Amino acid sequence: MGNGNQKTVVITGGSRGIGRSVALRFAEDRPRIIIAHYDPDEVEANKTLNELAQRGVIAESHKIDVSSFEPVASFFKGILLKYEKIDVLVNNAGITRDALLMRMTEDEWDTVIRVNLKSVFNCTHAVVRSMIKQRGGRICNIASVVGQIGNAGQANYAASKAGIMGFTKTIAREVAARGITVNAIAPGFIDTEMTSVLPEKVRGIFIGQIPLGKMGKPEDVAEAAYWLCSDAASYITGQIIHVNGGMYM
Ligand code: NAP
Repeated sequence: MGNGNQKTVVITGGSRGIGRSVALRFAEDRPRIIIAHYDPDEVEANKTLNELAQRGVIAESHKIDVSSFEPVASFFKGILLKYEKIDVLVNNAGITRDALLMRMTEDEWDTVIRVNLKSVFNCTHAVVRSMIKQRGGRICNIASVVGQIGNAGQANYAASKAGIMGFTKTIAREVAARGITVNAIAPGFIDTEMTSVLPEKVRGIFIGQIPLGKMGKPEDVAEAAYWLCSDAASYITGQIIHVNGGMYM
């Protein structure tokens, strides 16, 4: 299966929202694309695969809980056995379980930390040894503006995203000498299923805080992810790139 020139790109949470847009953006270069998602209902994942197929990319989707260490390790082992290398890892999977701290349950805290933050450790840990061996690779983590500025009702989410930022800078330092870059994107308020559940009034309040006066599109984040993982960004590592319409400067 090994084809030295064709890149292998792994995107967690690639079944919908930002992850799907990232997959479609990468598709323009015809890499192998492997997406990980969680919902046993494959409808959204298949939609991504179909859209990729329309662009001439044969992709795979795997149902996997990225918060579980062992399944993630064997998932990546399988990819490496099949394709020999992974060039790009986009750690995008994420969830919210919002509540004010006084009402937040232990389960809401633990679940968000596991799915949003431990997953980034799991996937990066599983891939980094092979990137070190091949002396190159790109890791792009999807954080959030909330990890930088906080947001009432999202202590678990903000902590997980701030954790991603610290993780990104640390791993960037650990692997820079091997030609691997590790960066994060901190999106602001992006129009996906994650934000569509918010009441209209809350959406209005958020939009009022955005100097560019509108929500971002998944494609805005995808473009930044694609660029950070391209040769054009080879001298950029350990950075948090804000894609937020000016919400935080
Ligand atoms: P979304 O539409 O809700 O999609 C979430 C994705 O994560 C889905 O593909 C989902 O898979 C996957 N996922 C959830 N739990 C998983 C698990 N345990 N294992 C594997 N995959 C799992 O969210 P989104 O808005 O595109 O957000 C993508 C990322 O951007 C997240 O990290 C989010 O925190 C971040 N972000 C979003 C915004 C925003 O405004 N939307 C702002 C800042 C940051 P299934 O489809 O199979 O459930």
